Amino acid sequence: MSDIEYSTGFRPKMSIKKKLVLSFSLAVLLPLTLLAIANTFIFKEQTKKASLNKVKITLNGAQRIYYSQGNRLKDAFLISSYNPYLINAITRKDIPFINSLVKSYKDAFGFASYIGITDNRGSLLASTSGALGFKPSLGGMIFNVFHTGFPVVKTAIIRKIVLTRMGIKIAHDESNMFLVTVVPFIHNGKAIGSIFGLINLNDNAYLPETIYNEYRLNTAVFASVFNTQVCLATLKIPGNVFGIGSKLPDYIHRKILGGKNFIGEMNYGGKDIFAAFHPIKNIDGKVIGSIAVFISNKEYLSIFRKTAFYAVLVIIIGLIMSFIISYFASKDTLNPIFAITKAIKNFTEGDLDTKLAIKTNDEFESIGKGFTEMAETVKDREERMRKYNIFSDFIVGSLDFEKIISSALNILEELLNLSSGIIYIYEKEPVLTGQNGNIGTYGDNSEGFLIPWKFYGIRKFVANKIKADEGIPGHCLLKKKTVWFHDIPENAVILKDELLENGGAGKAIDYGFCEVFPKDIAWFPLYVGDANIGVLTVSSIHGFDKEDISFLEHAAKELSVALDNSRLHEKLNELSITDELTGLYNRRKLNEALEIEFDKAKRFNNNLSILMIDIDNFKPINDFYGHKVGDIVLAKLGSLLKKNTRNIDIATRYGGEEFVVILPQTDFKNALEAAKKIKKMVQDFKFTPLEKEITVSIGVASLPDEDIKSVDDMLKVGDDFLYEAKNSGRNRIVGYYSGKKVEID
Ligand code: GH3
Ligand code: MG
Ligand code: MG
Repeated sequence: MSDIEYSTGFRPKMSIKKKLVLSFSLAVLLPLTLLAIANTFIFKEQTKKASLNKVKITLNGAQRIYYSQGNRLKDAFLISSYNPYLINAITRKDIPFINSLVKSYKDAFGFASYIGITDNRGSLLASTSGALGFKPSLGGMIFNVFHTGFPVVKTAIIRKIVLTRMGIKIAHDESNMFLVTVVPFIHNGKAIGSIFGLINLNDNAYLPETIYNEYRLNTAVFASVFNTQVCLATLKIPGNVFGIGSKLPDYIHRKILGGKNFIGEMNYGGKDIFAAFHPIKNIDGKVIGSIAVFISNKEYLSIFRKTAFYAVLVIIIGLIMSFIISYFASKDTLNPIFAITKAIKNFTEGDLDTKLAIKTNDEFESIGKGFTEMAETVKDREERMRKYNIFSDFIVGSLDFEKIISSALNILEELLNLSSGIIYIYEKEPVLTGQNGNIGTYGDNSEGFLIPWKFYGIRKFVANKIKADEGIPGHCLLKKKTVWFHDIPENAVILKDELLENGGAGKAIDYGFCEVFPKDIAWFPLYVGDANIGVLTVSSIHGFDKEDISFLEHAAKELSVALDNSRLHEKLNELSITDELTGLYNRRKLNEALEIEFDKAKRFNNNLSILMIDIDNFKPINDFYGHKVGDIVLAKLGSLLKKNTRNIDIATRYGGEEFVVILPQTDFKNALEAAKKIKKMVQDFKFTPLEKEITVSIGVASLPDEDIKSVDDMLKVGDDFLYEAKNSGRNRIVGYYSGKKVEID
């Protein structure tokens, strides 16, 4: 026995199927998920970059559009600056002409909120508001162009008081920011005046709208009034985050004040946006505001969401794939396990023919082979056990010596497909009928015989008794060892020498005794302790294997015990119904036998008689010769009775010196004859050392008789007639026939 154990320190309490699915899912899902997440973040970063790039590019464009409005004015104004009529009008201060020019510009450039023309000292000659003679302070831009002779387009903050004087009405309390275009009129190398246009950035959605239409991005214009970045102009469309008057966060503001761009993410008005700011400088290079473009990160978020969606999709597909993979993996791994489980179940439920054929070219295949081998071994063992049991059942099922021998041969033939079988019985005396108490006595086999008691598949002429130390059977019994001739060649003749080699004594033997040439022959001793019982010989044309031989050895042992028991039983049985002194049946057997015969006679209306015999004057013999001699007389009388009765008659000792002989199927007349014969035979017999003859008195009772209704009645009638015989003088027979008493001397 070997116990094979396997255990791991830790093992999750999960079926292999679950483990497989889990591990495959993890193996597929984990990298997929990581990849998807990484991808999402890379996307996010890229989207962010793209968004920032977009605002950056848009900012450049916005800047161009911003200044292009001023430049448009500048281009138009430049044409006028070469107009000799205008030069003339300014020199002559022809106000109506100048006014009409201002008016025509105003009509042509609606986006300009203010257009004015000055003289060479910067005083207004004409303006769209109609103000005259006032010197507008446009951040020093008018005198700058007088000085340089070049037109200027710049942003400038103009204070409210100045605007009021210029006739510009504004809603805000403080200064306003304008995009200012100034073009000088140069005549003979001298500035004789200027024309300027103002584009109001306060509350004006014109510029943001223009930029939006071009780039689809929101725009706002900030003014750095009192160093505070306040939103002046913005797009009035939904989704705009900047509100008029709202301020930039400090960190952006400071950056812009430093003349730098800001491009990045920010939270503004409670919204996350991507924004780009560019500082706006006045004529002195001082930052006075900024232009900003932005997109809400809604767009960016939607890209991110899309990416995330794809990531989830990938994960779901991964999950499905992992299930599919685990399904195939389970087919590969679990199906063999299921097959093994099923085989074990079938096997434990009693199907010993279960075979497990797994063709996987791996360890499972070996398990399958191992299982099948195991099942076959168990099946063989089971089969052998079954044979043992069948054999034992039959052998134990009977106490009849003959029956046991016949059954043993029959069953062995059936179980092992034998081609011949012999059971030799060891006998000390060569009395071979096997009937009627023919019980062999056991001893060493030098003087005994082996009698082929029962056999089949054997040639008749060899079915003779052999000496108990002769041949292979004798050798087998002498040595109390199995002799097995295995795989006998067709032409084999086992010679004396060969047998001697096996340690046996005996004469040569060939296989002529078998009807069919056997492949294997085996001899098994039958014995119990020192007692020889016989030899079992079997042969097979198919041959025996070790299992068969071991089974036969077992069977031989069991057979020996059964035969021994049967003999003991017969002996005991015999003893229990035999009277020891006379060798006749005892009173017990008398009752038993008379009961049976009485019933038979009554049922079939047969005749039946009994003789009740008593020795006359026996007591004096005892008294004179002694009890021992009395016993001898009784024993001799017993054997006389036995010899002088028929086989079917049952002679019994009724008790003391009284005997009863049952005469089945015998009427009164024949019973009387039998009684006479006995009476005479006793009288004639010389009972040495007795000098005098011995006589007996006999009472006869016979059926049919209406008065005799039971065995007791019959014995009583016999006893009564015996009593009468004694009373009438002894040595006589008394009976009753046809209503008359019969008495014979
Ligand atoms: P009768 O029958 O003729 O009347 O005379 P009897 O002497 O035979 O009388 P009874 O039946 O009374 O005596 C039987 C005697 O047989 C008595 C007893 O001692 C003797 N007896 C009974 N059984 C045995 C026995 O087994 N061995 C011997 N030796 N004697 C026995
Ligand atoms: Mg008597
Ligand atoms: Mg007597």
